[in-house]
Amino acid sequence: MEKRFISQPSLVRWLDKLNSEGKHLYAPVKKGSERVDFGRISSADQISFDHVQTTQSAKSVAFPRTEVLFSYQKEKGKVQLDNFDPEKMLSTVVFGLHPCDAAAFNPLTAIFSWDSRDELYDARLERTFIVTLSCTKADESCFCTSVNGGPGNTAGSDIQLTPVKEGFLVEILTEKGMTLVKAGEDCFEADRGDVKEDYLAKLPLKFDVKAVQERLNTAFDSPIWKKQSQRCLGCGACAFVCPTCACFDIQEDAHGSKGKRLRCWDSCGFALFTLHTSGHNPREVQAQRWRQRLLHKFSYMPERLSVRGCTGCGRCSRACPVDMNISEHLSSI
Ligand code: SF4
Ligand code: SF4
Repeated sequence: MEKRFISQPSLVRWLDKLNSEGKHLYAPVKKGSERVDFGRISSADQISFDHVQTTQSAKSVAFPRTEVLFSYQKEKGKVQLDNFDPEKMLSTVVFGLHPCDAAAFNPLTAIFSWDSRDELYDARLERTFIVTLSCTKADESCFCTSVNGGPGNTAGSDIQLTPVKEGFLVEILTEKGMTLVKAGEDCFEADRGDVKEDYLAKLPLKFDVKAVQERLNTAFDSPIWKKQSQRCLGCGACAFVCPTCACFDIQEDAHGSKGKRLRCWDSCGFALFTLHTSGHNPREVQAQRWRQRLLHKFSYMPERLSVRGCTGCGRCSRACPVDMNISEHLSSI
């Protein structure tokens, strides 16, 4: 790992240089007076630096909300298939995501390579460069330190920047990160010896994750699921904002002799998610769906994939219309 320093004006110059060299820049931008979300930018001046968290995570760079798996055309008894072409995928720099979002690519990758590798996901991630911004502030929904993360955690980052006096401390963490630095070498200065920890947000532990996991392993029949889920609407907002949720549905968009097969985000919180064509639903009530959400993230994934399905970003608690708070629920477990 190498360290450097970059000033704010040089950072803008570096990102604009990457943009002019054909990299697709994706960063947090203000949308209206309250919302900050990831979007494509044409200049680094558009980036928001003073928010706590974006509404959506950055997962859509590798797992878009809707994507075409293939398209087809039937003609004279034959079918012509058009598969995705990785060469047409854009080389993307995701800038300004926080450590909890970068760390989320680990569980996502574990899911998309569980029984077979997902070529689309792999191809997108391979073309993605992750430049994180460590956290100098947090809010009451954040709990990364309770799930083995932290405001300066570097897991999943190619480069991490920490805001320090007059600029940013730069940690170059991977070969991919170094290629980005080399593309604008003159923008960077030698490390000034800034102590990263002096600038990071302080986040006390909210629960003991090992104890939670042990409880969950024997909690399948607990009455707590009914109690906790009573106000859950099954709206799926928690899954759609989550950086690690990977449920999807396959849809057919067919018109006459041609069509597309699409992969679209889905949620285990939806009643339709497990509904069989027979009418039987193995998860009939919201309590079973809420149990699935927590057990999947904190028990099944650690057991089967050796990785937790939550990085403590707090988005599900911020987005929930009825104030279901995941860290409070985990603490009560
Ligand atoms: S479950 Fe909630 S807190 Fe955990 S990663 Fe997903 S959105 Fe963030
Ligand atoms: S966002 Fe809240 S109400 Fe909607 S499904 Fe999730 S927990 Fe339930």
